[in-house]
Parts: sequence; C-alpha cells; structure tokens
Amino acid sequence: MSGAHQVVFDEATIRSRVSELAREIEAVYGDEHRLILVGLLKGSFVFLADLAREIRLPLQVDFMSVSSYGHGTTSSGSVRFEYSGRIPVAGRHVLLVEDIVDSGTTVREVVARLRAQGAESVETCTLLHKRIASGAPQPRFVGFDAPNGFLVGYGLDHAEDFRHLPYIASL
Ligand code: 5GP
Ligand code: MG
Repeated sequence: MSGAHQVVFDEATIRSRVSELAREIEAVYGDEHRLILVGLLKGSFVFLADLAREIRLPLQVDFMSVSSYGHGTTSSGSVRFEYSGRIPVAGRHVLLVEDIVDSGTTVREVVARLRAQGAESVETCTLLHKRIASGAPQPRFVGFDAPNGFLVGYGLDHAEDFRHLPYIASL
C-alpha cells in the first residue's frame, strides 16, 4: 500500500483479539444454540472467516448484502437489502458479524429484519466500532474501538481496494 497511511491494528493484534472474541462468544452460547453467523458482505468476509474458525461451537455460516442509500445528512438513512441469505432464521440464534459500526444504521436495520423474520435471538459482533452511534442498540461483542479516520484492510475497502491487506490501516 502506498501513499499516506498508518497501520492501526497489525496482524498479531487482530489475531489475538479475534481469539478473545471467540472466547466471549463461547461464554454466551452453547452447543444447543445451533448458532448462525451472518456476515454482512463484503466488509466482514475476512473477519468472519477468522472468527468462525476460532469459535469452538457447532455453527452455520450465512451472508447478507445491503447497501446504504440516501447519503443524507442525518442517520435517517435506510438500507436496501440486496441478498438476504439462504438459511431460514426463524427460531434460530443469529450472530450478525460486521466489519465496522459507524452511525449504527446498518446494524439497526439488519437486526430489525432478522427479528422480523422470527429469529429467536439476534446479537451483533463488530470488529470495529466508531462509538458515534447514538440511540442505536450497542453491539454485544466489539473487537476494537476505531480511531478517527477512514479505515481499510482486513476486509474493509476504499473504492474496493485494500480489502486483502492482512492489517487495518488508516488512510
Ligand atoms: P453505519 O450504517 O454504521 O453508519 O455504517 C457502517 C458501514 O459504513 C460499514 O459497514 C462500512 O461499510 C462503512 N464504513 C464506516 N466507516 C468506515 C471506515 O472507516 N472504513 C470503511 N472502509 N468503511 C466504513
Ligand atoms: Mg460494511
């Protein structure tokens, strides 16, 4: 990666925090929950892949894809569902896996959708949290508080670049 950027969380730091998150998740869920990890595409794909392999519980994996529309000034924003996954969530325990929570709109809308589909429980695990979300339900599992700035790498992109970086950097 060239240009002005700064590594914010390196590979070792991410690996160790992902492993801790898995332990936090194992403390909440048991075998009987038949957990479904639902990753939000595309940003969560690296995080989900690492997290899923650390969780020592039976689980299933699915994905959803949403896009924000109305780049309005306020968090009146809504999301459009592009792909809602394959596994029926009714009666299931769902753990939504997100790369980063900013305003909280995305997670709020997706959680509402999963609840409306009859999920037995819905919790959120986000790798990064900008902590500016106000009035939004807070994710139960948070990897790191995000510093100011625009972050890329480990799944996060800037105009589709940088998702493959094994670390998280600030542009
Ligand atoms: P929210 O709906 O919480 O306002 O926005 C969450 C979404 O905004 C994330 O899923 C991500 O796509 C995008 N986003 C917010 N902050 C950043 C950032 O620092 N870097 C990148 N790459 N995406 C971000
Ligand atoms: Mg995203």
